[in-house]
Amino acid sequence: MAEQLTIGLILPDVLGTYGDDGNALVLRQRARMRGIDADILTVKLGEPVPSGLDVYTLGGGEDTAQMLAAEHLIADGGLSRAAEAGRPVLAICAGLQVLGESFRAGNRVVDGVGLLDASTSGLQQRAIGEVVSAPTSVGITAELTEPLTGFENHLGATVLGPGAEPLGRVSRGIGNCDVAAAADLSDGPRQRSAEGAVQGNVIATYMHGPVLARNPQLADLLLAKAMDVALDELEPLEIAVVDRLRLERLR
Ligand code: GLN
Repeated sequence: MAEQLTIGLILPDVLGTYGDDGNALVLRQRARMRGIDADILTVKLGEPVPSGLDVYTLGGGEDTAQMLAAEHLIADGGLSRAAEAGRPVLAICAGLQVLGESFRAGNRVVDGVGLLDASTSGLQQRAIGEVVSAPTSVGITAELTEPLTGFENHLGATVLGPGAEPLGRVSRGIGNCDVAAAADLSDGPRQRSAEGAVQGNVIATYMHGPVLARNPQLADLLLAKAMDVALDELEPLEIAVVDRLRLERLR
């Protein structure tokens, strides 16, 4: 089991709305509470992304900011090399869109990093509010059993291609795309209730929160993957305030 972990907090200066930086803090804290020496390495716009980190997190952002993020990540290539080598990556909202094939920003269609078979156009109305979903438990998320909860705020409507699976099936909120955006698609029902994306070891979601504070099982799954162990090999953590937060939000 790894005794030292480095968590990459990627481009928080352009991708870091709604406390998404907190996802890296949650990973570090949950590792440290188990006696694992964990640190965060912050990579800002213009800096190279080291491809040898244990786990990577990217947050949400505004349209212009996410265009800059996509340009940098494509030109740099470090995050892509890490993902291709199987390192776990968590991407939130604009981060999800940026890691897809393309997204809409302003009136332009912009190339994404291409780590997710997903393309993003526009919703008819901004999706804002609580979102709850049941994990699909596919691929890297096979061990997830608990409902996922977060807060969404996006105008992007993301459609998944066959290479990506949803992270969850929405029971409350909008998720990747609404009825109107899904209406013309042959697999409309698959798209309409989809939340987030899973492809290889990349997990992406529209859930802010920060999502890992609200979903400790997802946090531990990422930690386990970062350490190359199974989820049930991690010592359980009892944190009453996290349980209370989940209960209150799920209610
Ligand atoms: N700018 C993107 C959108 O509106 C992402 C927003 C976000 O990250 N919250 O869809």
